[in-house]
Amino acid sequence: MSLLNKRTLEDIDVSGKRVFVRCDFNVPLKDGVITSDKRIVASLPTIQYLLQHGAKVILSSHLGRPKGAVDPQFSLAPVAKRLSELLGQDVKMASDVVGESANALAASLQNGEAMLIENVRFEPGETKNDPELAKKFAAMADIFVNDAFGSAHRAHASTAGIANYIPAVCGYLIQKEIEFIGGALENPKRPLVAILGGAKVSDKIGVITNLLDKVDTLIVGGGMAYTFFAAKGWNVGTSICERDKIDLALQILDSAEKKGVKFLLPIDNRIGTEYKEDTEWRDIDSDNIPDGWMGLDIGPKTEALFAEAIKGAGTVIWNGPMGVSEWDNFAGGTIAVATAVAESGAISIIGGGDSTAAVQKLGFADKMTHISTGGGASLEFLEGKALPGIVALNDKD
Ligand code: ADP
Ligand code: MG
Repeated sequence: MSLLNKRTLEDIDVSGKRVFVRCDFNVPLKDGVITSDKRIVASLPTIQYLLQHGAKVILSSHLGRPKGAVDPQFSLAPVAKRLSELLGQDVKMASDVVGESANALAASLQNGEAMLIENVRFEPGETKNDPELAKKFAAMADIFVNDAFGSAHRAHASTAGIANYIPAVCGYLIQKEIEFIGGALENPKRPLVAILGGAKVSDKIGVITNLLDKVDTLIVGGGMAYTFFAAKGWNVGTSICERDKIDLALQILDSAEKKGVKFLLPIDNRIGTEYKEDTEWRDIDSDNIPDGWMGLDIGPKTEALFAEAIKGAGTVIWNGPMGVSEWDNFAGGTIAVATAVAESGAISIIGGGDSTAAVQKLGFADKMTHISTGGGASLEFLEGKALPGIVALNDKD
């Protein structure tokens, strides 16, 4: 089943229609003030398209974890205010989710006007994907647009259930995720190189197994490399290492060989004596990590090896930093890989919360083709799982 064939905003006529849009307005708040409006800004292309095409726009989102009951600290009212500023027009805020206020506002909307209903998780049926709640959402509108990629891995009433009752298409954000992540998995420009890092093998087993069937080269760095070192019988010192995953690491190495996938591990490492930002450090070959030392980044020889493998790539999928990139002394490997990806000219796709944060913080965000807007959702996408919020959307004819 292909996810590449979903209907988009531009496949339907929205003029004069009531359109229920599921956004990701799950913004960070401090004392009721939005501390980053990045997610609101990201939602603007879809909303502006709808407004400019004369739709009556009913916006929705979750915010935080209010546990299925009204909790004023998770009200979306600050989002309506910020959205109004960004759009240059009033976004009316309903005082409930599917009650009198939301329905009255929805009924009174004129073409080209927008409103926001309250946090969908104020309703206990939301996370249970309750059909009764999904029907109430659907009854407010003629069309459903899902643009909340960050919640697309959840089958909830406003992300999936509603699509059972009215025509359902994706907005620009989800369309872009499908195009790039879906495209890289289903029909990549080759060679396809995947770079995996981050702390633990156990977090990425599904991703590794799925990618082994698709990639030409798999590069492993970061903390998860040390479980593979242990599998090879190398001393890992005090490096992060999942002993109970050594058999699995061996199976993965074996399977990569059988599938003809080039599998690259670090050949040297930047090691420290303590898990501390200013710990003393030095570089050492991979089969030689001394007792009492831990690998905190890939080393300079590995930077060159990985950069060479990335150079000829047609497509790069990258998830997980190469070391503790939050600390300057151990960010070098991640910077080297980011530089190689940026210079490769390949289609580059970054998925994962910490990877995205690292790429942004290190200044490479505008050099990547696509930075995914969903942490958990992009991992599940890379694992080859069917995302309910995308599966529920209508296929193109
Ligand atoms: P993502 O969120 O992009 O999927 P992960 O959560 O898997 O990435 O991994 C990111 C974390 O891995 C970071 O906090 C980073 O400090 C940690 N990490 C990377 N390399 C190491 C290492 N060698 N030792 C300990 N932690 C590491
Ligand atoms: Mg993470």
